[in-house]
Amino acid sequence: MHHQSPLHNFLFDCNGKLLHANRAAVQACRRDTAGSKLSPEEDMTLKSLFLMGSYPGGQEEAEEAYEEAVNAIFVLQVQCHRHNQPRSLKIGKVRWEMIEMWPMQDPVDGSPAVLVKRYNITQQKEIEMQLSAQQEALQRHNQALEQDSIDMQEERVRLEKETLTLTQRMEVLMHDKFEHTTSNFDAETPIEKVLNVLQAFITQATTPSVETVINLYHILSESGTHLRQPVALEEQLMKDKRMGSDVGKSMLQLLQGTSASAPATGETLLMKSTSFAGSGSGSASAFIPADITPAFERMLQCSCLSPHFVPQDPVCMFPWRALLLLDCMPDLQHAVLQDAETNWQFDIFAFAEATPGSTLSMLTFHLYKQAGLVREFKLDERKLCNFLQKVESGYSAENPYHNSIHAASVVQMTHMLLCHGGLIKSGLITKTQQLSSYWSAAVHDYEHGGLNNDFLIKTSHALAVRYNDQSPLENHHMSAAVQLLFQPDYSYIAVRCAGPFTCFCWRWLHNKQHLSWFDMLRSETIAHVRSVCVNQVLGTDMKRHFDITSRFQSAFKQQPVGSGGTAAHVMPVWDNVKAEDKTLVYQHHMNSISIMWQCDMTSDKQHIPQMVLKCADIGHLAVDPKTHKRWAFQLEEEFFRQGDKEKEAGLAVSPLMDRSMQGGMTRSQLGFFNIVGIPLFKAIADLFEESQPMLDGVLANFRQWEEIASAQPDVPA
Ligand SMILES: [Zn+2]
Repeated sequence: MHHQSPLHNFLFDCNGKLLHANRAAVQACRRDTAGSKLSPEEDMTLKSLFLMGSYPGGQEEAEEAYEEAVNAIFVLQVQCHRHNQPRSLKIGKVRWEMIEMWPMQDPVDGSPAVLVKRYNITQQKEIEMQLSAQQEALQRHNQALEQDSIDMQEERVRLEKETLTLTQRMEVLMHDKFEHTTSNFDAETPIEKVLNVLQAFITQATTPSVETVINLYHILSESGTHLRQPVALEEQLMKDKRMGSDVGKSMLQLLQGTSASAPATGETLLMKSTSFAGSGSGSASAFIPADITPAFERMLQCSCLSPHFVPQDPVCMFPWRALLLLDCMPDLQHAVLQDAETNWQFDIFAFAEATPGSTLSMLTFHLYKQAGLVREFKLDERKLCNFLQKVESGYSAENPYHNSIHAASVVQMTHMLLCHGGLIKSGLITKTQQLSSYWSAAVHDYEHGGLNNDFLIKTSHALAVRYNDQSPLENHHMSAAVQLLFQPDYSYIAVRCAGPFTCFCWRWLHNKQHLSWFDMLRSETIAHVRSVCVNQVLGTDMKRHFDITSRFQSAFKQQPVGSGGTAAHVMPVWDNVKAEDKTLVYQHHMNSISIMWQCDMTSDKQHIPQMVLKCADIGHLAVDPKTHKRWAFQLEEEFFRQGDKEKEAGLAVSPLMDRSMQGGMTRSQLGFFNIVGIPLFKAIADLFEESQPMLDGVLANFRQWEEIASAQPDVPA
């Protein structure tokens, strides 16, 4: 029953009168009742046992407890009745007692009686009370948690709703943008349109409709020689209401060049004499016409192309500078240069401030080493430094845009694309192409005079005459830089001759101080590097933009294939085609197999390096908005300076180059992003998923310009 032995035992009759008690019980009752109104032993009753309790409800509660007990034992005749009673002790503490009552019989007369046992349950009660207090606290805590959880659930639902709304809005916006881009500008060239139809026929055996064929016929017959240019480019650019006619004209000039009939009022600028001051040195100043007008001379002042411009030769002036550059590298390596290796948003202006005059050479040298090219190609580090410093000195710091910082940023972006954009990983770029890409990036605007090709052509500048109006700037950058490579101080690429006399040539060249052009050109490596670089640097002429992007698009067009699809399934008609006529590259892309369409691998291989340099060249579209805007304004300033020179020479000022008609910047940026930037970066990101951060950067900057445009008044008609 109860594991404790009772403190006291009493036996009461049915009227509550004490019949018997043990000694301890009598003593305790006497002690307890000594100070109270109750009398000792003889007056000790069942009721007085209850009245000794110190109940919160006082005597009334004690009497109630007594009535309940008597009722339970003598009326309801329960087997056992238990009641807990608090008792105030003299020392100020409370003792808890349990009164346990058992029905009995008077041993003398056999009448009903009750046996009462008293137990001390203070300890048990304390634990119980502690437990119940803890339970209560726990309950309160649980309730609070439940409330919190309800609140959080509500907040989650609210946030989910908000996200859904934002996603829907974003989708609408992106859809609008896509609609806008595609509906306003159709970038597909006649060749691409034809190839798409042919490809659908080959891969899916889809026969084109008569309407499609007639449409293609018209497009081809009306396109003249512009087969690699969007259909009706001029009409498309001029009718775009968002850009305005001045932006349309400027885009047209950028992408197509000044037409032969463009008014050139500065007739005195036309070259009347063919006498050149010199030849073969590679310096532009050697080709200035003898009867140059004072206006033209003024025009060329402060420019690399000026007859007074003498590029500083770092090797001749400071033979120790190459050593300095080499020694400086380790200190810088752990700081800014590390950032340049991996950051799509590298702050080139901050780096330029830290490395005045050596921005391009330091960055390029570091990335050459970092990419393992110095080791791989056994490059002569000293000569490489010499070369890079010589190239850097060929960039005019007077140019707001086409300066060595621009070249450095192009090198960095090239590195990012190759090493972090998934190009090297894809295996579609060879080591030699990688070597060439850094080289091309560094020299691609070498000796740029801050004036564009159109200006050189319409003023019959020596370079335009020299290169027959065909990309005079790009031809000059490339040619002048290659000539440097052939000078012994700068020839950092090891020469290995092709053919049976390799060993002989190698030993012979080793002992030679100067290498002839012929020696150099016979080097396999140099010949290969040079051919890649020529393609890359000449490809930066925006007049070749659509030609290059269109060729790239048709070479690497992706064909989504249903899950589990194989080439055999989608190309039933290819069964009878010779293996060498089809080269398919399978690639896991977006969890489905895509087929990259490659008809002629040898020629298509050049497209990727070309696209890399093109992207890097306008890489500032992808950097953080602050840096991007700075580049955009510096380019605008360079345009204005050309406009000033055009005005001075009495020429018609090129669209968007008139300083007095400011405000075309935002619209021209939107036009450039829409027609050139976004499709170019998207083409790369579509093929190389890892270069997506670059496209994201471009889209972020585009949205910024859109926001600015929406706050501006409407475009003048
Ligand atoms: Zn450039």
